[in-house]
Amino acid sequence: MDYGMPDEQSRQPVRCPSCLEELYFDERRLYLTDPQTDKPQLWDPATEPNAVRRQDQMNRAFLKCPNESTQAHFLPVPYLVFGPPLTIAFVGQSGTGKTHLLAAMMAEIGRGGLDSLGIRCRSVNTSQHHAFLARAVNELEAGRVLPATSATDFVEFTDALLVTVNGRTRPVAFFDIAGESLQLPGKVTEFLLGVDALIFVVDALRALRLKQLIPARETAGVPQRQAGIADPTFSAVLDRLPRPRDLCEVPTAIVLNKCDVLRFEPPIDHWLREDGRIEGTPDPAQTYRESQDVYAFLTHHQATPWLRPFMECRRCTLHFVSATGMSPAAPPVANGHPVATGTPTAFAGGIRPRRVLGPLLSVFQMCGLLDSPGPTPRLREV
Ligand SMILES: [Zn+2]
Repeated sequence: MDYGMPDEQSRQPVRCPSCLEELYFDERRLYLTDPQTDKPQLWDPATEPNAVRRQDQMNRAFLKCPNESTQAHFLPVPYLVFGPPLTIAFVGQSGTGKTHLLAAMMAEIGRGGLDSLGIRCRSVNTSQHHAFLARAVNELEAGRVLPATSATDFVEFTDALLVTVNGRTRPVAFFDIAGESLQLPGKVTEFLLGVDALIFVVDALRALRLKQLIPARETAGVPQRQAGIADPTFSAVLDRLPRPRDLCEVPTAIVLNKCDVLRFEPPIDHWLREDGRIEGTPDPAQTYRESQDVYAFLTHHQATPWLRPFMECRRCTLHFVSATGMSPAAPPVANGHPVATGTPTAFAGGIRPRRVLGPLLSVFQMCGLLDSPGPTPRLREV
């Protein structure tokens, strides 16, 4: 695939999404993955005389970040040459469904969920994207519960897309890191200082004390005593973010995830019925109504700690979502006791994501990726 490598933009520095170093496109620091060892190997474009093959190799090449004070890391060349990238981080403790949500978003995009908006998406690096599809999206679509993301001491983006809207292409990178890592101070979470948008994932099973959720918590292996205890990753991330003035300027979305467990509860029943195909650019009035309903619902059920991003960020929208459309089946039981572990491993009958692209589009809109008809409304009067 020919990415075109726009010359003028390739001279603009891009901030390394992991360590915040300024990166300049430099042909002397390019690497290609060695197919034998799967390790990066220094690559000189001048060694390939055929222009078509050279372009193809350039599309697969990585630039080594010049920051030597941390572990060696590499950025795909297409990430660096299409102007300022947009980085989006998912926030939430382990088990809230961040990976399931990102996988469901990718699956919906892969099924053409953004086509009606004229938004085209392709991978920044085909191998990285296929690796994420294989370990997360395909597994989820096959009805398997995804394992928890491993904690890490160095953060790199999980997957990245080149998103084209109205003929303009921008790289968009997604960070899905373990909840445990999000709470670490210092260098591990330094990347947060550079993210362009945040999606806070609220786990309905943990945030709401509702009695009718007791069986769902049991099935999901969520201790009942955890219900209503604030998610520590929200505070850890919000406390880390720069705020040049009173409020934090990073656009945020709050997602009430696992709404399938509340599908008969008004107004969630209404919004899940709406579900629907995306027919056009998000309607700010509809975003406002949904945000208002999520805010009211969380407030009514004493889940106000999960609204902290809304209180502290200048632009924040709220969304009802179910990444999988259903809860995983309870583990098999023999003689009245669960077999092996108590953690569910499968979604019986497959998954059916609901409203997963809403928060992504809202973030796109707040970050100027779409032709926004106006600023996102604030909800102070709610
Ligand atoms: Zn770096």
